[in-house]
Amino acid sequence: AKADGRGTFRFFERAMDEAVQRRQALKTALRAALERGELALQFQPLVALDSDAVTCCEALMRWRHPELGPVSPAEFIPIAEETGAIIRIGEWALRTACRAATTWPASVRVAVNLSPVQFRNPGLVQAVRRALAEAGLAPGRLELEITESVLLRDDEANLAVLRELRALGVRIVLDDFGTGFSSLGYLLRFPFDKMKLDRAFVAGLPDREQSIAIVRAVLGLGRSLGIPVAAEGVETGRQLDALRGYGCEEVQGYLFSRPVPSAALDFGRAKWADA
Ligand code: C2E
Ligand code: CA
Ligand code: CA
Ligand code: CA
Repeated sequence: AKADGRGTFRFFERAMDEAVQRRQALKTALRAALERGELALQFQPLVALDSDAVTCCEALMRWRHPELGPVSPAEFIPIAEETGAIIRIGEWALRTACRAATTWPASVRVAVNLSPVQFRNPGLVQAVRRALAEAGLAPGRLELEITESVLLRDDEANLAVLRELRALGVRIVLDDFGTGFSSLGYLLRFPFDKMKLDRAFVAGLPDREQSIAIVRAVLGLGRSLGIPVAAEGVETGRQLDALRGYGCEEVQGYLFSRPVPSAALDFGRAKWADA
């Protein structure tokens, strides 16, 4: 038993070492990834349920490491936040996304995710203004997706930044709504243009009682506050039917499209209609 225990310990120790080494390797490689052309953006459409039209496409970062292959943003964004590299690659994403959007129909907006770390950078508002000006994109076509952690931590300063961004004419979206349901106060502190219901809740539709309750509550809240709600992670026709029935305005998910390169986006509405 003792030998077993030690074997198990060694196994975990080795797994830990490997995880630490991988993280260190990613940390180092991430510094040069942008210059080496290893980063790319893909775009995933959001569809309006009243018209079946694409309203917006969300930019999602992709990293192909020369040896390790594709690395998920869920893994490398936290590393980029820790090292501060998120400032540079975040600005690159803003510029690249705004430029891509100028090749789309004018009715389609582009959404860019912003890290809380970018909010602590005094250059953020200027970077957004520059990205718009360089691309020649109307500010009203840019949506910035933030998570509630931006308002929970350090809120007065972050609130001021949100107001400055809004003053540029861009739209501010509250992402992953419902994952930090403990505090709703931030909804009173800033007039968001949209809320995105986290896919964890959509995943339980149409059968799970708790998911139904939360989805309906969030949609009701959105209606009362006059904030449109988009549902993310819609994968099945039954989830779509449920969301439609509850009055959801906008949907996004593999049912409609996976994230794809800008040139592969399809803005036609016919194919959504029979989804
Ligand atoms: P997020 O902003 O909540 O993005 C939604 C994630 O769900 C994306 O994962 C997307 O590919 C995935 N997804 C979309 N539809 C479906 C579906 O129907 N089913 C399932 N199972 N998943 C779906 P991705 O691209 O791996 O990104 C993960 C997270 O990484 C994002 O979550 C966001 O927090 C972060 N991220 C990605 N790109 C950027 C970026 O440019 N800047 C920052 N700051 N964060 C980013
Ligand atoms: Ca997002
Ligand atoms: Ca989200
Ligand atoms: Ca999410």
